[in-house]
Amino acid sequence: MIDLPTTAMKPGTLTASALSEGEPITRALTPAIHVATTYIRDADNGYSSGNVYGRADNTTVRQAESLISELEGAGESLVFGSGTAAATALFLSLEPTHIVAPRLMYWGLQSWLRQLPRFGHRITFVDMSDLCAVKAAIRPGETGLIWIETPSNPLWSITDIAAVAQSAHAAGALVAADSTVATPILTQPLAYGADIVLHSATKYLNGHSDVSAGVLAIGKPDMLWASIRKMREQNGSVLGPFEAWLLTRGLRTLDVRVKAQSRGAEVLARRLAKHAAVAEVLYPGLVDSPGHRIAASQMMGGFGGMLSIRLKGGARAAISTAANVSIWRRATSFGGIESLIEHRSSMEGEGSHCPADLLRLSVGLEDPDDLFSDLDQAIARSA
Ligand SMILES: *Cc1c(COP(=O)(O)O)cnc(C)c1O
Repeated sequence: MIDLPTTAMKPGTLTASALSEGEPITRALTPAIHVATTYIRDADNGYSSGNVYGRADNTTVRQAESLISELEGAGESLVFGSGTAAATALFLSLEPTHIVAPRLMYWGLQSWLRQLPRFGHRITFVDMSDLCAVKAAIRPGETGLIWIETPSNPLWSITDIAAVAQSAHAAGALVAADSTVATPILTQPLAYGADIVLHSATKYLNGHSDVSAGVLAIGKPDMLWASIRKMREQNGSVLGPFEAWLLTRGLRTLDVRVKAQSRGAEVLARRLAKHAAVAEVLYPGLVDSPGHRIAASQMMGGFGGMLSIRLKGGARAAISTAANVSIWRRATSFGGIESLIEHRSSMEGEGSHCPADLLRLSVGLEDPDDLFSDLDQAIARSA
């Protein structure tokens, strides 16, 4: 067992060594999956183990949570059956309030946020990369939460976490950051002043396109956190033990995956920016990208594995390029080891703000040269 204080360990060490100290009785190197839905009550009618019922208490679930807390520098984390279940638990745990959210963000969650008035909340959508617009949208004493997503779907625009947190806190509002794309390897939003972090663990944290999961992590557990925990228990939205075990297994390679995927995305972004058929590459790692300066100050060790391209040939060329690839897989979602390509506005459908000539690219672990050649031939065949 490594005998260093946790804070001294780098994410690569934390993830690779997590839970490998051996089980106390069997000495198994790999942790067991605890599937019990109920626990034995002591003869004196107590529960000395602290475990009572599976919906609230599960060791395998807690192991995933404790690793995520360490990675985020969080006080506590809670895993849910999906990213959506985690996010909605937060919104539904707030007393009715005014919420500010990005105009451009993960489409599925934004559609849900549009229904917030049904739950007593008021909501304003703003351009989160425009700090003046954010400040103008905040109603002091009335705004309870600012929701940010950085980098954000599908244009990968950047929000200055520290600046938004400062304005929010001055007005008495909390900041929750959807950090699904950055992962704790590149950004720890709590260190920049965010109060709560959300991940769709379906994406990079698990990383193998085989688990639906979500997580909320908080710096300092408070009353709101207690209601979120209670909401998860009462709504039954906790992650199952098999999925939690797979999530922990995925997390153990998070550091190396995210760094390699970021390197691949950077190579592709540079080469695509010079491509004659490409009108624009959206990637915060490019020095002339509008969010680059802030991204460089709050993302460490890379700019993430997600980018988008806009094709000069318009929507028709974009759809046809996606049809002509052979290494890239045509599918929605992202963050897995296999590279995915998606005509995003087709997925978002009516009311989408996504440009019709845009292809969203999730860079996996294939060689970037092969990924570029495949995309290049697909673009050529679509001309
Ligand atoms: C996928 C995603 C979600 C929703 O997560 P699910 O696990 O699909 O419920 C939320 N935010 C972002 C940024 C996502 O990409």
